[in-house]
Amino acid sequence: MNDESQKEKLRQHFARRVTTQARVVLDTWQKIREDRDQAAVYRDELVSATDKLVRYAKRFEMESHAAAAEHILGLLEHWHQSSPLEDDQARQLEDATETLRHCTQRRTDQETSDTPQQYRRTPVYIALSNGEMAARLIRQLEFFGFRASAFSSASDLIEACALSKPETILMDVNFGGDTNSGIATVEQLQEQHDTPIPIIFMSDEDGSIETRLRASRCGGEEFFYPAVDPGQLIEKIETYTHGNTVEPYKVLVLDDSRAQAKYMETVLKKAGMTAHIITDPMQIIHALEEFSPEIIILDMYMPGCTGMEIARVIRQQDRFHSVPIIYLSAEEDVSKQLHAMSLGGDDFLTKPIDPKHLIATLHNRGRRARSLLALMIRDSLTGLYNHTHTLHLLEQEIVRARQKDQSLCFAMLDIDYFKKVNDTFGHPIGDRVLRSLSMFLKQRLRKSDHIGRYGGEEFAIILPNTRPGDARNVLNEIRERFSELVQPAGDREFNVTFSCGISAWQSDSAQSLCERADRALYTSKEHGRNCVSLAES
Ligand code: GH3
Ligand code: MG
Ligand code: MG
Repeated sequence: MNDESQKEKLRQHFARRVTTQARVVLDTWQKIREDRDQAAVYRDELVSATDKLVRYAKRFEMESHAAAAEHILGLLEHWHQSSPLEDDQARQLEDATETLRHCTQRRTDQETSDTPQQYRRTPVYIALSNGEMAARLIRQLEFFGFRASAFSSASDLIEACALSKPETILMDVNFGGDTNSGIATVEQLQEQHDTPIPIIFMSDEDGSIETRLRASRCGGEEFFYPAVDPGQLIEKIETYTHGNTVEPYKVLVLDDSRAQAKYMETVLKKAGMTAHIITDPMQIIHALEEFSPEIIILDMYMPGCTGMEIARVIRQQDRFHSVPIIYLSAEEDVSKQLHAMSLGGDDFLTKPIDPKHLIATLHNRGRRARSLLALMIRDSLTGLYNHTHTLHLLEQEIVRARQKDQSLCFAMLDIDYFKKVNDTFGHPIGDRVLRSLSMFLKQRLRKSDHIGRYGGEEFAIILPNTRPGDARNVLNEIRERFSELVQPAGDREFNVTFSCGISAWQSDSAQSLCERADRALYTSKEHGRNCVSLAES
């Protein structure tokens, strides 16, 4: 390598460090913006991150970064430790961080931000040795409204993660060309993030327990061996991307030490969870009712009662029978720990607790608890709400629409000639079509809409606060796009359409709303299928 290219390479290497540090500053500022009440907690973090950025940027001669960072640092001098952030200070900081953001945006980012993108989501990163497969996946993912990017080197991937944390990464075990070099890259990557990025690993060559273990230890949620087809992969990617867009976990902490409780609150909030803290065990019943926690953390020893006794009381209530309970204590005696677990606890963490360990435990427990709940209210094939729960939600939304005096629409979808799909391509391909439609709906509807699988190849959608004309436009757009989606079946391909009927709520009952939507659906079928009809008022 000649001198010039050596220098260029070094320059790029250092530039990455500066942009990574700039991202840390921007992320910290983001946390302050999102939760102004907790701003003081992050003030010192922002000061030290910005200070580091100034030093890096100067050392590596990146002037625009250095100038932007120095400006931020200057503003921060007027924000005194542990005092609240004033509105005009916040405004000035907002402008200054915006300047920094412009410095860090690479050309490609700026280019894409000019093209309007309807479905902006956090990205999915793809690191596969097979570039053709990666390109094919991206095309399919874009159809479902995902933003996906492929990478060809570990350093590019690491840099991209520092700039914008992905929802999930699809990773070749041997990405980079050497045995397990993909896993090594992930190990390095996860070091830089407080909460691990979920990784979907795949391998064509090695499904050994050693490799699987190592992959799972660094955040590998899935391990495909041998590698699978794009359809299956997209379904997996979908589960992880949805996991991130759902509500933060609600965690109740009971600890008689106010200092310890406060500390826990800060750690949980930093990890994006919703925390509710109590220091008096006698408040537990009230807290359960008011806060409806998804996870409970109990101190073992408190004045008046023990954590185990509280756990028993919690377990006596049906509603909280399966809420995970985690004990937190300085107790190191394993037999005592085991005894505590036998009395209704799920996990045991010893103080002083490593925040990373705590957060990882909470994520695991929370995910499990949610998947148990999902068994009751969701359809197992598509993950959509089942028939019963969909009707329950419809009743709830009718109540809300009445209270708020808002409009409400109900749509029923039925796949056209679905029997023929089964007959021609087989039942498993039919199932795949049902899942692809359900993913399609999830990606394209609003978060506030409820989507259910109403029956075999029938789907129901509740659209709160939506006027009939808008509902029809949205569903027509979805119908059109879905009909363009290519459904793979081995080496053949086909397209599927659906028909839809929509009814608008007219102060009538859920049953009447369903019946009217059903009649409108029938009209669509009669008119040749692949169309949307609105029930007459
Ligand atoms: P139309 O356009 O009139 O709706 O015709 P269609 O063939 O879609 O309607 P029909 O009601 O005659 O057939 C529905 C088919 O859906 C029959 C049934 O075997 C199939 N089906 C129902 N549930 C499932 C399922 O979970 N998986 C698969 N693969 N097929 C299913
Ligand atoms: Mg049908
Ligand atoms: Mg049908």
